[in-house]
Amino acid sequence: YPRVNILGINFTKITNQELLTQLKKDSCLHRNRFIVTANPEIVLFARKNKRYAAILNNADYTIADGIGIIKGAKLLNQPLPERVTGFDTLSALLEFANEKQKRVYFLGAKPEVITKLIAKVTQNYPQLVIAGYHDGYFKDEQIITHEIQQTAPDFVFVALGFPKQEFFINDYRNSSQALWMGVGGSFDVLAG
Ligand code: UDP
Repeated sequence: YPRVNILGINFTKITNQELLTQLKKDSCLHRNRFIVTANPEIVLFARKNKRYAAILNNADYTIADGIGIIKGAKLLNQPLPERVTGFDTLSALLEFANEKQKRVYFLGAKPEVITKLIAKVTQNYPQLVIAGYHDGYFKDEQIITHEIQQTAPDFVFVALGFPKQEFFINDYRNSSQALWMGVGGSFDVLAG
């Protein structure tokens, strides 16, 4: 998919539908993929942090999660088709994982939130396989990434907030041939 540069970030020109089709295909082919859902705060932070900007520009899909980014793109005469939210993408991928009995690793949020989230996922997506999970307040990254590697997930959802989650995924995505996505505060929302 072509990229559109908005304020230094190369956004992927893709619709919700196209992204989902593509991610399902990537998953079925066991490709390693990194999806960034970039909102305006993320774009502003990337303008001050070159290493973070490079990570965003090197992700496989950098999607525009904010109406301001869509408007900005239009003003710059480089339109992006539509807003694609991290939360909607996560929800759709959980549906897909449920349909296809895919393995999912959930990393992030507070201990009580992740526990609630796992209960909800078990209830609402009974066919989805919970490969593993851990709260987002760990000291040793190696222990976590070793566990991710051992449990061979198809999807790894990382809710550590930005920029932590993108730095983490960039460092460790090779530990598992999975689709990796930073999902910010989505676990808190899903846990209810
Ligand atoms: N979080 C975490 N570990 C940390 C810092 C944050 O697991 O070291 C979690 C926090 O509990 C929350 C999420 O990351 O579930 C961050 O949510 P927020 O809405 O602040 O993130 P954003 O959507 O702005 O990236």
